[in-house]
Amino acid sequence: MNDETSRELYDRALSVLPGGVNSAVRAAIEPYPFFVQKGDGGHIIDADGNRHIDWVMGLGPLLLGHDLPESVRAAIQRKASEGPMYGMPTEIEIDLAEFVVRHVPSVEKIRFVNSGTEATVSAVRLARGTTGRNKIVVMQGGYHGAQESTLVEGDHEHAKPSSAGIPQSFAQHTIPVPFNDEEAMAEVFEAHGEDIAAVLTEPILGNYGIVYPEEGYHEFLREVTREHGALLIFDEVITGFRVGGLGCAQSEFGITPDLTTFGKIVGGGFPVGAIGGRAELIEQFAPSGDVFQAGTFSGHPVTMAAGLETLQFAAENDVYAHVNGLGSELREGLTEIVADQAPNYTVTGTDSMFKVIFTREGPGAGSLEEQCNDGCRQRPTCPRYDSCPKTGADVKAAETDRWRRIFWGQMKEQGVVLSQNQFECQFVSYAHTDEDVEQTLEAYKHAV
Ligand SMILES: *Cc1c(COP(=O)(O)O)cnc(C)c1O
Repeated sequence: MNDETSRELYDRALSVLPGGVNSAVRAAIEPYPFFVQKGDGGHIIDADGNRHIDWVMGLGPLLLGHDLPESVRAAIQRKASEGPMYGMPTEIEIDLAEFVVRHVPSVEKIRFVNSGTEATVSAVRLARGTTGRNKIVVMQGGYHGAQESTLVEGDHEHAKPSSAGIPQSFAQHTIPVPFNDEEAMAEVFEAHGEDIAAVLTEPILGNYGIVYPEEGYHEFLREVTREHGALLIFDEVITGFRVGGLGCAQSEFGITPDLTTFGKIVGGGFPVGAIGGRAELIEQFAPSGDVFQAGTFSGHPVTMAAGLETLQFAAENDVYAHVNGLGSELREGLTEIVADQAPNYTVTGTDSMFKVIFTREGPGAGSLEEQCNDGCRQRPTCPRYDSCPKTGADVKAAETDRWRRIFWGQMKEQGVVLSQNQFECQFVSYAHTDEDVEQTLEAYKHAV
């Protein structure tokens, strides 16, 4: 595959962009990332004209794929042509807010911002502002964007910033615990219950391999936060309008969080974030409340139109049946391939999310008949239960170098583009086809 143009572009990029990119993970591909010229349905065409099946899908936002349906495209073009933005309210902001409020039961009011990062920053500030407490509990391996309060690593006794440039004083207020570990969470609440403003978690770890919650874990989080007067914040930036359809992951799990952060799909492919929740909480944002929050571009008309039309299209068409059906086909096919060729590996994902984690420990000898065959669901009766990842640390302990440096390239050579490392999730879009799935499974067969 010729990639001369990508190499030349990366050469130019390195002179003017740090690491040659505008977001760190994009440079994970070695020796250099390929540059995208344009999208085409479920595929992308790179700068050298090569076509690839694209399972990255913008790292989450592109529920409908690269070619937007006419209704979405027309709405975007109309808004853009009327003038990009005003710094004054527009009707379309209410329309999208009403849509989200109608479909996500925990959301009575919502504030739109411009990125998932901005959403989690604001949600944490709101939690601190409304509870009068400082500490937040996060999951090891969880991701909430590039923000000071959550770029923290370590455990509840030794938390430290995971990036240069963040004062240790931020880490003092953040308590990382392992996902799926009720005991660790109970201990943290026992020690700091009075000071904890919120537990902030993705309902499914989507930025760290895809880790599904164990049965009862979210119920436990709901209970322990309520008991101690802390908020439960679901970061649904990935899972929102992807898992559980228009009701989001919280409806799939039957949990009512106090606050929810959104991003990605809710902007229909344009920069977006949002914080939703009970009216009395969201009203604590300025100007109705004391928690300052503002943004020149917030509620951007083009983004609002793209998000609304995308979700409306999903409501009126078989979008979720299609993407979840292909997701199942992929996960079931991968489960067979893995059982055959690499029984240590774990197939994860749900709905339209999928990933193969190169776990080192497998189920051992014996029958795999009872295994989770549509992505790991943490079923205690699954023969893989003892070896499937339950925490971020379990995912990190997998063969991440083999995944990124060997496997990724072997898939790319076969015309299949997966996310840039083992941690980032992969997504099915409405534009993907059965043929894309078959071709992808064939490629896995050769590369695994
Ligand atoms: C992508 C993501 C974010 C950050 O969103 P940005 O728009 O990249 O700032 C936050 N939380 C989760 C769960 C995400 O997947």
